[in-house]
Amino acid sequence: MPEPLTASRLIVPEGVLDIMLAEARAHFPFETGGVLLGHERGRRLVVSHQVGAGPKALHERTSFTPDRDWQYAQIDLIYAHMNGNLAYLGDWHTHPGGAPKPSTTDRVPLHRTAINPACQCPSPIMLILGDPDRDGHWAAAAHRLIRSARGGRLKTTRLVLAPPRGKPTATNALKDPEE
Ligand SMILES: [Zn+2]
Repeated sequence: MPEPLTASRLIVPEGVLDIMLAEARAHFPFETGGVLLGHERGRRLVVSHQVGAGPKALHERTSFTPDRDWQYAQIDLIYAHMNGNLAYLGDWHTHPGGAPKPSTTDRVPLHRTAINPACQCPSPIMLILGDPDRDGHWAAAAHRLIRSARGGRLKTTRLVLAPPRGKPTATNALKDPEE
């Protein structure tokens, strides 16, 4: 029997995290986000690339609408560069002035992705960056949708963010909010 997926870790390289943080700050106080690509290795999800919201995205206080055409073009380029050796892992987005916890509306696209055969991602992850105190100190949390043994129920599971090689300096601002 495999270990439960709740033991998974989400590994995000500092460089990728830095890009997401830069986008979060650039769009503050409006929301932004993007797509996470990478690999599943055992119980670890390893992010290798992120694709941002895109130049024609619409950013609002509590939502954003990505520039899908731009995103798909970027994803095609990355897939070609990686010779197709890449998987869609899920999405990321910001909660400007809020905690990095999934809202009720956040759960809807996760469920949609999980049941959409075209996504090939039955357990999508959602990485959220939040700065609850509006002081530029962003916290990150990752959540993963897991199907239950019965198949019909889905639940969100928190994942652990880890820098790639134990270099804490660049990610000091990214503390797990529940630790
Ligand atoms: Zn959200």
